Amino acid sequence: MSTDCLFCKISQGDIPAKLVYEDESVVAFRDINPQAPQHFLLIPRKHIRTTLDLSEEDAALIGHIYLVAGKIATQFDFADEGFRVVNNCNEGGGQVVWHLHFHLLGGRQMGWPPG
Ligand code: AMP
Ligand code: ZN
Repeated sequence: MSTDCLFCKISQGDIPAKLVYEDESVVAFRDINPQAPQHFLLIPRKHIRTTLDLSEEDAALIGHIYLVAGKIATQFDFADEGFRVVNNCNEGGGQVVWHLHFHLLGGRQMGWPPG
């Protein structure tokens, strides 16, 4: 955990968020600035700065996050219509919060290519 990390603080309950899922390794909550009718962030509780900081021991954790994404999409009833899972890595990828997270977006038609 990182003491000055926003998402570590949300994971620990020190900063409030609209949580929709949590277990021992993963937390999911609504994005504060939604880019779609349904916009959630899925984070590992473990502080990992970017995708490039993942190691082999994190492989099951990332797989688990994808399974949780599908469960949330099903729970909030946009799985069948379709959704998108996005990870922004580093500045060029659009990352602004330096704790690994996956955007789960749904509830509208997604465009391609993404901006
Ligand atoms: P990224 O650009 O991939 O780093 O995405 C960071 C995301 O975190 C953005 O979509 C923000 O709207 C979201 N965000 C920032 N602060 C909060 C917060 N306190 N609670 C929920 N989402 C947040
Ligand atoms: Zn963190």
